[in-house]
Amino acid sequence: MSTDRAMFIGGQHVTAADWIDSFDPATEQVLGRVPAGGVGEVDRAVAAAKGASDGWRYTAANDRAELLHEAYAKSMTHHGDLVELLTREQGKPRPEQEEEAEWALTSLRYYAELGRNGLGRVVPSAEPRTQLNLVLKEPYGVVGAIVPWNYPLLLLSWKLAPALAAGNTVVVKPSELTSLVTLEWIERCFDHFPPGVINVVTGYGAQAGEALVRHPDVRVIAMTGSVATGQRIASVAAPMMKHLHLELGGKDAFVVAPDADLDTAVDALAYSALLNSGQVCTSSERVFVPQGMRDHFAEALTAKVSGLRLGHGLDEGTDLGPIADDRFRDKIDAHVRDAVERGAKVTTGGRRADRSGWFYEPTVLVDVDDDMVIMTEETFGPTIPIASYDDFGAVIDRVNASEMGLGATLRSSDPMLIKRFYEGVKAGTVWINDPLTDNYAGPFGGMKMTGGGRELGPEGLETFLETKHVHWDFDQAGKDWWLPY
Ligand code: NAD
Repeated sequence: MSTDRAMFIGGQHVTAADWIDSFDPATEQVLGRVPAGGVGEVDRAVAAAKGASDGWRYTAANDRAELLHEAYAKSMTHHGDLVELLTREQGKPRPEQEEEAEWALTSLRYYAELGRNGLGRVVPSAEPRTQLNLVLKEPYGVVGAIVPWNYPLLLLSWKLAPALAAGNTVVVKPSELTSLVTLEWIERCFDHFPPGVINVVTGYGAQAGEALVRHPDVRVIAMTGSVATGQRIASVAAPMMKHLHLELGGKDAFVVAPDADLDTAVDALAYSALLNSGQVCTSSERVFVPQGMRDHFAEALTAKVSGLRLGHGLDEGTDLGPIADDRFRDKIDAHVRDAVERGAKVTTGGRRADRSGWFYEPTVLVDVDDDMVIMTEETFGPTIPIASYDDFGAVIDRVNASEMGLGATLRSSDPMLIKRFYEGVKAGTVWINDPLTDNYAGPFGGMKMTGGGRELGPEGLETFLETKHVHWDFDQAGKDWWLPY
């Protein structure tokens, strides 16, 4: 049954002249529609957020924390329904959606607590008896949160929770592919916040998203998405001197060291490359295996991957869900075709699945060169290209050859190699043996073209706080160091 949902602005339900269909990517059926918002709706949402700004800023941090905890409690009550809708609209298997929901909700609790723990510091004054020097951390005001579709609740929570805990109000622009579940979560679980503190404007990136970036009253844009969108946003926002927090694409490497256990390395790689059908910013998209292990490794990986079952995320036994949108399959297929034309061999998969829904077969490729498109551009699909190496030092240079720098994984127990790897690799997160595991206390983000923003940890709260230095002299008397003019 298809549903229409309105936007959520200033506590009101708001529609627009046009609508956007939202699909179940496993069935290609329309699940519902959301309004295609534009400049007018963004203006209205930013006005609501600005109107709520002072009230929220001067709400005690303890009270803000309690409201976030209440959102957590409500989310737990609606957990089953949210996970089901998330599965239908986003596609990955239900157990993965459960994990996404769990991570998203943990973010609410983590930042609720972090937010009530101090806002700045006192630094020594030049005249300690009569002066006070305060370093204040203040909210910016209105934050624009622009979110992608691959982890719609998780990546929203990493922005929303710290932004609110820091005292900002927020206008959310979800992906046009996952707006239904975003509206469902915000309306059901954040309806106890004062009107205007949280607003959701649905619509296409070029209209609703860009209107949010351009709006003069939005001082921070926190966006997760592709490099191309990040570049566009930066070019629009830079002349307005906005604070940008950009979490962009990845092309993560997975390196198997010569001492690695082959079987568990295969399992770790299958997980880190195929989670969410490879639609993770930190998916392992470039694999480097020692020359001597390569054939055996590729054989074991192929055997594992060829046994995986595609299906609807709500069906028991589904290992891999669909690709989120049919047009993304064209890109995946183009990367595979380019590799094959240039000499790579597909050992399993390598094509769209022969069934309804936007599925792509999980794919392993061997005889891959570093300059093939599948090794240089983000594929964002269930593809595992395996290259080989002879010299560990040279492989670190090959890992760093990517223009992106989000994450990298090494499988090894050799401390000399491990230290050399994590010091040498230019990536925001380095996983040794346990890929893709996040830690709320540890920052997540990238280097180089991935954008340099950081979410999670104290850094993820700091992003939404502006620094002010107050130099306060208690005495109005003149000073003998003032120059006489
Ligand atoms: P996308 O760049 O197409 O869209 C992201 C968001 O930006 C969407 O809400 C979209 O509507 C909006 N948008 C598009 N054009 C805009 C514009 N001109 N102005 C303002 N907003 C605009 O990305 P996607 O396809 O939704 O997500 C996949 C990408 O996200 C991949 O590249 C992936 O690597 C990246 N990603 C990065 C991280 C990270 O933490 N670094 C995490 C997840 C996903």
